[in-house]
Amino acid sequence: MPLVTCQDCNAEISDAAPACPKCGRPMNEEPQIVEATGKGWKLIQAAGVLALFFGVAQACKVWNVGQEPDAPNLVAFWLITGVAVIIVGHVGAWWNHG
Ligand SMILES: [Zn+2]
Repeated sequence: MPLVTCQDCNAEISDAAPACPKCGRPMNEEPQIVEATGKGWKLIQAAGVLALFFGVAQACKVWNVGQEPDAPNLVAFWLITGVAVIIVGHVGAWWNHG
């Protein structure tokens, strides 16, 4: 049976082994792919929320200080990108799981 290299400790182990005998790193990661896909879309949504928060924070800072923003286009960019990424994340999750 072929040998594979452990990604953690570089030990050569059988690809039939459920985990690395040296460091215990799990080898059978294929069953997690379906779950990881769902998590990927959640990550995209989380990134969108972060971008939106960043845009809102920038807008609030400008509003509180009462001065022209250093880069008004950048504030709009973060707000629009945040909303767009959240929508993409929702559509992607719906497309794959709905
Ligand atoms: Zn290992």
